[in-house]
Amino acid sequence: MNASTFRAQRIAGIEPSIFATMSQLAIEHDAVNLGQGFPDFNGPTWVVEAFTEALKSGKNQYAPMPGTRRLRNSVAEYHRRFYDLGWDANTEITVTAGATESLFSSMIALLNPGDEVILFEPWYDSYHANCRIAGADPVCVTLHRPEFRIDADALERAVTPRTRMIVVNNPHNPTGRMFTREELQSVADIASKHDLLVISDEVYEFLTFDGRHHIPFATLPGMRDRTLTVSSTGKTFGMTGWKIGYTIASAPLTDAVRTVHQFATFAVNTPGQHAMAHALDRLEEYLPEFRAMYQSKRDLLENGLRDSTLTAHRPEGSYFMMVSLPADTGISDVDCATRLVTERGVAVIPPSVFYSRSEEGHGMLRLCFAKTDETLREGIARLQQC
Ligand code: PMP
Ligand code: GLN
Repeated sequence: MNASTFRAQRIAGIEPSIFATMSQLAIEHDAVNLGQGFPDFNGPTWVVEAFTEALKSGKNQYAPMPGTRRLRNSVAEYHRRFYDLGWDANTEITVTAGATESLFSSMIALLNPGDEVILFEPWYDSYHANCRIAGADPVCVTLHRPEFRIDADALERAVTPRTRMIVVNNPHNPTGRMFTREELQSVADIASKHDLLVISDEVYEFLTFDGRHHIPFATLPGMRDRTLTVSSTGKTFGMTGWKIGYTIASAPLTDAVRTVHQFATFAVNTPGQHAMAHALDRLEEYLPEFRAMYQSKRDLLENGLRDSTLTAHRPEGSYFMMVSLPADTGISDVDCATRLVTERGVAVIPPSVFYSRSEEGHGMLRLCFAKTDETLREGIARLQQC
């Protein structure tokens, strides 16, 4: 029997995730891991204690399919407090297994084979794969270096009669851009004009620097009912392994997403949902220190690379930094990343895998600074030359 002939056509050409690949190489080569995006330090003790408290008090059976009422209420409440957005916790919020499942369930629920989905490249890897699994065709619009701005004309040109959805990620992985209100409004105008859905991936909504404030896409005029907002407590509280995310959308869109979610995972771990509800209720106390810590890590990395051959593109949000390789070496990102992990003991992400149109990714690397200062210093030392 040739078991590999049993692979379904819908997964043909979908490559292993670069994050898994680079983390595996980092383990094999005992490398400092500035590749995959996760903190190498623990999240807040008081959130861990809330989890153990929930475990001990017997919150260990299936949660309701859409998520615990307590967590959905906490999500609705922080959206009211921070963004003045009103959502019905009963019909408009669904807790998912991380933002990853939220993106997957949303795309499977809302795309038909032959639909086109506009992605900005560099993209977050699961958007492209999910489109393909749903039978839809990704159409890419490049965010050109060094500014990585949204080009409204290029976006308009990418729309065809088959376009169904635009995916926006803000703050943006991997560039660290926070799109301006004008850039976001240009996306909203095109979504309205062509009657498109928008998935707005806002997992880094609180990882914002230099006093910047996040603009939720659903707050733009007319966007509330055509936007699915995706976020994740894994980023906000530095607990990526808990996999607690959520989708916020109008009741008819939520109903579609839940139709998939109920058979993808049915429900997400119960004690974690209780702990994250407790955590979201305390965002105001938590955020100043959280932001200051990540901003200082960004600065440490940027300053540390000043004397290297790499040119940093300063991130406005997220915990990623793109750096340009020196133009004259002719080495590609993939070769450079391979050499760095095997010979110099530092793992990074080669971003060309996040592009399909532009060649720009070949000239950059993505670094993650959600790492202890000690890890960052060691990584910087190993990155001095590529
Ligand atoms: N979207 C973006 C932009 C991300 O960077 C990530 C993970 N780093 C996710 C979604 C997935 O989030 P989660 O870990 O909650 O599944
Ligand atoms: N989102 C993380 C990153 O960009 C990785 C998440 C994953 O490995 N699926 O690195």
